[in-house]
Amino acid sequence: VQAKLVSGGHSYPDWPTGSPVPYAALCKSFSLIENTTKRLEKLQHTSLLLRQVLRLTPNELLLVVHLMCNKLAADFEGIELGIGESLLIKAIAESCGRAIDKIKSDHNQIGDLGVVAQQSRSNQSTLMFHKPKQLTVARVHDTFLKIAITSGGGAQNGKVSLIKQLLASAAKEGDEAKYIVRALEGKMRLGLAERTIEVALSQAVVTWEQEKSDKKPSLAQLQEAEEILKGVYSELPSFEVIIPALIEHGIYNLRQYCRMQPGVPLKPMLAKPTKAITEVLDKFENKTFTCEYKYDGERSQIHFVSKTSKIDYPKTAVDTNKIDKGVAKIFSRNSEDLSKKYPDILGVLDSWIKPGVESFILDCETVGWDKEEKKVLPFQQLMTRKKKDVIVEDVKVKVCVFAFDLLFLNGKPLVKETLQERRRLMYESFNEIEGQFSFAKAMDGNELEQIQSFLDESIKDSCEGLMVKMLLGSESSYEPSVRSINWLKIKKDYLAGVGDSLDLVVVGAYFGRGKRTSVYGAFLLACYNSSKQTYETICNIGTGFSEQVLEEHYKALSEHVIDRPKPYYSHSTGNTHAPDVWFEPKMVWEVKTADMTLSPKYRAAEGLVDSNKGISLRFPRFLRIRDDKGPEQATNARQVAEMYRKQESVGGGKKGVDDDF
Ligand code: ATP
Repeated sequence: VQAKLVSGGHSYPDWPTGSPVPYAALCKSFSLIENTTKRLEKLQHTSLLLRQVLRLTPNELLLVVHLMCNKLAADFEGIELGIGESLLIKAIAESCGRAIDKIKSDHNQIGDLGVVAQQSRSNQSTLMFHKPKQLTVARVHDTFLKIAITSGGGAQNGKVSLIKQLLASAAKEGDEAKYIVRALEGKMRLGLAERTIEVALSQAVVTWEQEKSDKKPSLAQLQEAEEILKGVYSELPSFEVIIPALIEHGIYNLRQYCRMQPGVPLKPMLAKPTKAITEVLDKFENKTFTCEYKYDGERSQIHFVSKTSKIDYPKTAVDTNKIDKGVAKIFSRNSEDLSKKYPDILGVLDSWIKPGVESFILDCETVGWDKEEKKVLPFQQLMTRKKKDVIVEDVKVKVCVFAFDLLFLNGKPLVKETLQERRRLMYESFNEIEGQFSFAKAMDGNELEQIQSFLDESIKDSCEGLMVKMLLGSESSYEPSVRSINWLKIKKDYLAGVGDSLDLVVVGAYFGRGKRTSVYGAFLLACYNSSKQTYETICNIGTGFSEQVLEEHYKALSEHVIDRPKPYYSHSTGNTHAPDVWFEPKMVWEVKTADMTLSPKYRAAEGLVDSNKGISLRFPRFLRIRDDKGPEQATNARQVAEMYRKQESVGGGKKGVDDDF
């Protein structure tokens, strides 16, 4: 891959116009992005590559963007890589003619399987080495897709063989093997956030558009383009729809062609924690707000288009033709398709809908329902339901859907409307059916006593507490994917503590003592640092588990054991506290804590509050598994720092440094 030098010393990767994008061009950009810590430079390298793709091979822009995000399709399609370490080691060993033990020991030494693959490839004897045909982005993407969707008997062997074919075609020089392996592992380690890719894409498109008339974009044009793309993507997070529209209609017309679409889940709006009703009153002073019950179940975004509607259907990466006319789907907080988990909901959906309603997106909480007592069941009961292929007749835990927002109605997005208006339309468009579908219980009183008694009532009705939301004005619009100050949550349990529970990734474990020697008795947890793309340890946890739960954790976690901590784990390096086993970052647990403290042993939010100490949790207790969250959606280091500071400012926390194990 040649490179053309442009201003600022950065260069465009280059290839002949109209020919497939070489994978080496992408890898060259990856390597430049990886080797700088400066966000602006990362942005520039990303944007240069995307611009060049637009100039030379625009029909492959979607593939390039997907590989940059290390995705194969939109999140809701559920197509993921994340191949286990042992499978990758086997494929590297076989394709490079080396022993598995050698690969393992290199991995132990180097700590990065991508680098091990690249070195093995480079050192491969020339006798065994036939110069392969240059890898293209299209071939890599296609093979990744095949690897991800290979399932059933013999799937492991099938995957290994596909990986081997890719590695055998990787160039000896450069970084192709390295990035192939990292992509398959599900961790590119470029320090490149998806938001940066969105900005780079907007810049690339606007520059490319201006170039056609020999112009350069102004700063204002670049900013406007960024705003448009971010806005469109937050309502329609699917590059499959956005990129072809960008190329065909340009960025300034994008809003017209890419609007919210039932079938493509939005990233949900999230709330900020608070510790006291008085804090809510301070934050929402002089504003009109409303309180709703905070139900304790599973977030569910329900999408519907009637069979007779003329609305467009979402494009998908695979099986485009499979979509029947009409849409009736349920998506999780994580944009996962839950339709096969809740056929009982989809089966009765029609009966909630009033005449005249043709399409909608509802934001809801699905909660376990006790039919006899006619009340909400604890979250734990809901978790006992099967996750897939549920047959309506077999359902033991019945559910009731509590709707709290309406985001789209009859072909029109409502997110910019006030909550009061969205609520009015929601009440107007659906029928409540006891034990099946209800509107979230709401109370618009703004006085302290009113909120206090509504909070007490919510707890009596088996809810977690309250959600307090702005009701009027532009601040009450629905903000997809934002943890917004316009939504506050008050959880009863945490009123005197740190305000919220944390969702943490299990990265290690210690074998138990006494009765518990055959299972893990304690665990090492970490939060996620999204700017560094690392997992930072935050506490050890050994309480809150029953014997049965420990057995279950042992079984589930054993599948994810790895030989050594991932290089992107930030943990204390002394041997005293090292866990007996390390895990891939897979499991997310919700954990409650009494308070937070600075600690030299843990790394959470290190540098954000104190330059040498991390933040750790005191007396953490396990609450539940959060399988609706992926590891990267775990509580963020910034949130940890925010919670810590808040605790400090109200004087509730211990300021001392925690030194005990
Ligand atoms: P949590 O552990 O508190 O659910 P989270 O990170 O999943 O945290 P938050 O934004 O912090 O999400 O809390 C809001 C969550 O509460 C929503 O994701 C939703 O699942 C649930 N919920 C229950 N009732 C409501 C309601 N009336 N309005 C909004 N969200 C609600």
